[in-house]
Amino acid sequence: MSLADSMRACTACPELVATRTTVVVGDTPARARLLVLGEAPGADEDLSGRPFVGRSGALLDGLLAEVGLARQHVAVLNTIKCRPPGNRVPTRQETANCRPWTEQQLLLQDPRLVVTLGLSATRWMLPTPTLSAVRGRVHVVGGRQVLPTYHPAAALRGGPGGEPMRLLREDLQRAAELSA
Ligand code: URA
Repeated sequence: MSLADSMRACTACPELVATRTTVVVGDTPARARLLVLGEAPGADEDLSGRPFVGRSGALLDGLLAEVGLARQHVAVLNTIKCRPPGNRVPTRQETANCRPWTEQQLLLQDPRLVVTLGLSATRWMLPTPTLSAVRGRVHVVGGRQVLPTYHPAAALRGGPGGEPMRLLREDLQRAAELSA
């Protein structure tokens, strides 16, 4: 069975298995040098089976395009592959259950740079009390470059003139340069 098919057959998290529509495996285009890591699928992603297709996804696609990165050339994953009911934060157990899948994906993709969106995805890569303690700087984790930034949902909440939008845009510009 392929890695994706094995993920689709996963039953490790009983609550998520009972409520999911699809397992959102993620987008892993061959030779993508940038990998963007989010937290977990939301309602739109659960229905479509693809990561970042809702409002956050539309913003992400737009910001990537602004810095010259077409979404179809960027790998997009979430730390966990099944939607938590009501979009709650994934539990420690769910994150641990899903970790081997995401680690294998990361290993196979072997990107030049990982951009982590928001605190959950950032903590998946490096221990930190807050996002602001690490955001906007490149960290080397297991030999891999990691650039933490805001989640697009935070940028949407802050509005078009808000600080999270400005910094997300700035960090993605940096990501484009680092992964070129
Ligand atoms: N938020 C995420 O973190 N991931 C998605 O795929 C969609 C919204």
